[in-house]
Amino acid sequence: MPPRDPSCIFCKIIAGDIPSARVFESDSSLAFLDINPVNQGHVLLVPKEHHATIADLSDEAAAETASLLPLLCRALLKATGAHGLNVIVNNGRAAGQTVDHGHWHLIPRFVDDAVNWPWPHTPYSGDELGQMQFRVLRELAIEGGRSS
Ligand code: AMP
Ligand code: ZN
Repeated sequence: MPPRDPSCIFCKIIAGDIPSARVFESDSSLAFLDINPVNQGHVLLVPKEHHATIADLSDEAAAETASLLPLLCRALLKATGAHGLNVIVNNGRAAGQTVDHGHWHLIPRFVDDAVNWPWPHTPYSGDELGQMQFRVLRELAIEGGRSS
């Protein structure tokens, strides 16, 4: 059995302790219908290992679960007749995450549906873009040093 959190609703779904409408399962991952969909056919894809957010996943678990995205996207587009799909991850409360077991949302989208998108965008000003690039590059260099 993969590492699980006994209080986590998605771990309970993975273990079969509470019901779900499963649409795909592999050794590492499970996909099931969201009980409260943005649009019908909204699927949640979860790694079976319990980790609070995608940032906490091992590279291997992330790769195995994310590798299922193209297959699920193709099936969902055909099954729902959607014109497009949003594939999104909410990481942390500030980003709208409510279930602390990292997961991908696959949301069928229709031209002129009622979903509010895109989010507001604001261009950088002055040297903000260059400074942000520097900060991200510095953190990635530190991460690279840790993993080598
Ligand atoms: P998030 O807000 O990104 O953490 O997404 C959590 C999602 O889990 C929400 O869209 C909920 O509707 C969905 N959800 C919560 N409980 C269940 C459940 N028992 N079965 C299926 N989906 C669920
Ligand atoms: Zn869990």
